[in-house]
Amino acid sequence: MPGVPVNTASQNERKLNFWEKLYLPEVFKGLGYSFRKMTKEPMYTFQYPDELWYPPDSYRGRPVLVEEAGRPRCVSCNLCARACPPMAISMQSKEVDDVKEREPAWFEINMLRCIYCGFCEEVCPEEAIVMSKEYDLTFQSRDEAIFGLDRLLVPRERLKDRLDYLRDYKNRQFGQHWEFQHDNNLHSLKDRPFLTWLVEEGMQELTRTHLRDEEHVALGNTWGGVRRGPEPHVVATS
Ligand code: SF4
Ligand code: SF4
Repeated sequence: MPGVPVNTASQNERKLNFWEKLYLPEVFKGLGYSFRKMTKEPMYTFQYPDELWYPPDSYRGRPVLVEEAGRPRCVSCNLCARACPPMAISMQSKEVDDVKEREPAWFEINMLRCIYCGFCEEVCPEEAIVMSKEYDLTFQSRDEAIFGLDRLLVPRERLKDRLDYLRDYKNRQFGQHWEFQHDNNLHSLKDRPFLTWLVEEGMQELTRTHLRDEEHVALGNTWGGVRRGPEPHVVATS
């Protein structure tokens, strides 16, 4: 014998009126709402690819290498390849007759592996690899997705937005200890005009800021650089 059907409707369920039970008026009401949205309100979609979205400076698009005076800024230290979680980066160094001594003979990023995490950019001591604003990549084959120097190198002028953003971002985080691009980046090629000035005229400055002078060593300050802002805490040892 069939059981008594149980009413599972919630006590708070609204009862439909006569017109709602007909459904058709509600369908036309919905269509009217869509039509109003289509004609009267501004559109928020882009007509891609005719119209391209221009991302903000904080956006992480495909990683690219910074090209300066026709050459990669990269010193082929391999840090980015070590930090890359999916091991998308590979390179081979070569010696060059330049102040930086080394640069990549070849440098490849497998864009099928890249997850746009930005770790490579974060660890690079030279700001030689940065995240660009390019987001629409297509490939016909797996080989095509392996980008070499020819596709990775982008002139520094075209990456100015990102490089400026990085400088501000890093200084906001660590600026109490150092100003990126200047005195405490003597080892770096990020600021080539400063480096050139240093080599040609500023050797006095170099001994003061970069090399450890006797006074600093005697005081136990093995670092010897010019620190901006508060001194680090000294932990007393017994
Ligand atoms: S963005 Fe991340 S995954 Fe892509 S190359 Fe850089 S470190 Fe590797
Ligand atoms: S971390 Fe920077 S300098 Fe070092 S190999 Fe990578 S891109 Fe070049």
